[in-house]
Amino acid sequence: MAESNSTNLQELRAAIPGGRVLEITTTTGCVVGCSYCPQEKFANRQRAVSRVKHLCLDDFKRCLARVPTAVDVSFAGYSEPWLNPDCTEMVEHAHMSGHGIRIFTTLVGMNRRDLGRLQALRFRVFVVHVFDDGAYMNSRLVRGKYLDLIRELVDSDIPSIRFLVLGEVHPDIAGIVPAGALVRTRPLSSRGGSVDSRIVETRPRVVGALTCAEERQYRNVLLPNGDVALCCMDFERRHVLGNLLRDEYQELFEGPVFREIADRMNGKDGFLLCRVCEFAEAKK
Ligand code: SF4
Ligand code: SF4
Repeated sequence: MAESNSTNLQELRAAIPGGRVLEITTTTGCVVGCSYCPQEKFANRQRAVSRVKHLCLDDFKRCLARVPTAVDVSFAGYSEPWLNPDCTEMVEHAHMSGHGIRIFTTLVGMNRRDLGRLQALRFRVFVVHVFDDGAYMNSRLVRGKYLDLIRELVDSDIPSIRFLVLGEVHPDIAGIVPAGALVRTRPLSSRGGSVDSRIVETRPRVVGALTCAEERQYRNVLLPNGDVALCCMDFERRHVLGNLLRDEYQELFEGPVFREIADRMNGKDGFLLCRVCEFAEAKK
């Protein structure tokens, strides 16, 4: 990766605010199928515990009612958010409820009407993950309507919008997104060892006490059945903190699962996803 690109990525990371976040996985399974994403592992694990494919709007509202408004809501999670047809309504509901809103989307499943509704809102983060040249993503999804939507987004007045590509940008998109607005990087995270090691090698284990560089133990992931997984690395549901259809938000951090994670981060024996995660840092 060229130096300017890594600077670019650092700028993007710096522009993403800290604080508590609830990421929303609106559906189980993702047709986009990026080869650096272990979402199939997620889908298999999730289907083994729940038949709920889409997070339904009522359940989303019930879960969100338990979450303090100081917690940002991020439409990202373990699948493309707009593969759920209610996604725009969920965004509007979370916005109206007073939460800061973050969007990470490939636009797959989004249409012009959705975009028109989104343009009426304010976002803390809006990142569009655009298609690459076919090295990691399926180029057959790059068609007329998708390209039209990118054109509209580029012309939209969404102030925080940024475009991100992992690898080389698809040639049909290169002419639409201004080079200065495009952040280029490469697949960097093994998602706690869940990604094919030929694409991203799993890092050496961190031994002893550790911390999460971005405190992502407080950026948790809501799943379609209300379960809440530890963080954006936990595609295989290794640490499920509770269920927001049943538990209050604060209870997620007071229950035995989170307490055990905290103890293991402080050096206690037992499985801890963080040990092979790129965000983990050994405690000095
Ligand atoms: S990276 Fe995102 S869009 Fe790609 S397969 Fe994974 S969840 Fe889907
Ligand atoms: S170190 Fe990695 S696995 Fe642990 S909380 Fe942070 S992001 Fe998640």
